[in-house]
Amino acid sequence: MSVTFSIIAPIYNEIENLPELYRRVREVMDSSGKSWELILVDDGSTDGSTEKIRELARNDDCVRPVIFARNFGHQVAITAGWDYARGDAIVIIDADLQDPPEVILELAKKWQEGYEVVYAVRSEREVETWFKKVTAAVFYRLIQWITDVEIPVDTGDFRLMDRKVVDVLKQMRERHRFPRGMSAWVGFKQIGVEYKRAARHSGSTKYPFRKMFKLALNAITGFSYFPLQVATFFGFLSAGLAILAIPVVIYLRMTSSPQLTGQATTLIAVRFLGGVQLISLGILGEYVGRLYDEAKGRPLYIVREAPKD
Ligand code: UDP
Ligand code: MG
Repeated sequence: MSVTFSIIAPIYNEIENLPELYRRVREVMDSSGKSWELILVDDGSTDGSTEKIRELARNDDCVRPVIFARNFGHQVAITAGWDYARGDAIVIIDADLQDPPEVILELAKKWQEGYEVVYAVRSEREVETWFKKVTAAVFYRLIQWITDVEIPVDTGDFRLMDRKVVDVLKQMRERHRFPRGMSAWVGFKQIGVEYKRAARHSGSTKYPFRKMFKLALNAITGFSYFPLQVATFFGFLSAGLAILAIPVVIYLRMTSSPQLTGQATTLIAVRFLGGVQLISLGILGEYVGRLYDEAKGRPLYIVREAPKD
């Protein structure tokens, strides 16, 4: 069957948002006059979302469920969506309706003009906590500054991608994933479309600080060696300072009293160096651990139920 649009929505405990998500996606996509499918990836929900997804799929062939054996995380759920999508254009959307489905039509317009990645840029964020806004703003700018790819500021995963792009992304099976970075990395003709990010329809965020921190680490380690370079920088800095200190110490030794005030300085120097070394080791460990994860080559996710075709 040929499908024009595949809409992917990762679902983690979104039972109250599911009916509304389905209703609005159906309304918008029907008005597009093109064929479409809604891929609901259940990321190990425990609130009954799984049963709700099955029910939606039973009543409508456009709904295709992919049900994970446990929670694998938002980024992995998006990847599973890519794997099962059949459309010529693939859209990723949040299940909580923070990304209004109506915007899909605007993304699609740009796609029809020939753009291959159309990402949605948040021009405004309605009622989000200042903590979320500040951490997000810092995060996007930090990533922009230290990574080697041009990842547009203030864009999330909400985007439309051409089949060509998704076929490339499907080959990138890295374990610690940052999908929006990956989709910037592949190149192609990209453009942003501004939209107003809405408030969550129902329920609370599934992204506690712990998960945001993990995502930030994936972004940084996945797209740059910056942390390793910081370690090198501190190595040179403290070695340089030590060399500079030699003539100073000799001079002081010859001109002032032989009792050089040294105890505290030595203690500070030892502590400082010890700290820098441990931090560097930790950074190195972070990369080595990631190497180990890749070497194991386990599947990215395990499905309990998935479409056959
Ligand atoms: N999500 C997921 N797995 C997770 C956490 C979140 O599939 O482990 C989904 C969630 O159901 C939602 C989307 O990812 O559809 C974005 O999550 P959320 O709205 O909680 O993030 P926020 O908008 O607060 O950043
Ligand atoms: Mg949300």
